[in-house]
Amino acid sequence: MAQDMITLTIGKQKNIALIAHDNMKRELIDWCKTNEEILKKHFLCGTGTTAKMITEHTGLPVRGYNSGPLGGDQQIGAKVVEGRVDFIIFFSDPLTAQPHDPDVKALLRIAQVYDIPIANNKATADFLITSRYMDEEYNHVVQNFKKNVEDRAHSL
Ligand code: PGA
Repeated sequence: MAQDMITLTIGKQKNIALIAHDNMKRELIDWCKTNEEILKKHFLCGTGTTAKMITEHTGLPVRGYNSGPLGGDQQIGAKVVEGRVDFIIFFSDPLTAQPHDPDVKALLRIAQVYDIPIANNKATADFLITSRYMDEEYNHVVQNFKKNVEDRAHSL
């Protein structure tokens, strides 16, 4: 019988999403410059404006989705669900109200559900980026989404 949880592997080469609210963009760009040599080894994507600014200031290739307030955070959340984003650096602004606050919460929640490393501030990002797992595969245990649907369809 299928298990409730399954083991998935975050590859050696990570699919990293980079997001920064407006007041935090400068800090994220500086952080990317500092960590350029490490980031170069991975696949990078981000919300539209953040992605463009990082590429312009660092030369790192960052695939851009829509701007955050126009659904970019939700696009990245969908990639987490699909297993195509497995690491998030999200410098959110704790002191400014955001029009897309529900989307921000949704992204944090889905990262928890899929057990994705996610950094919300520079200190956490520093700890993550210097982790030995950056150069290794990492196995994590997540909900068996197929079994979850089977069970629900037959029990509700
Ligand atoms: P932006 O979106 O990179 O397009 O500015 C970030 C956000 O506010 O979530």
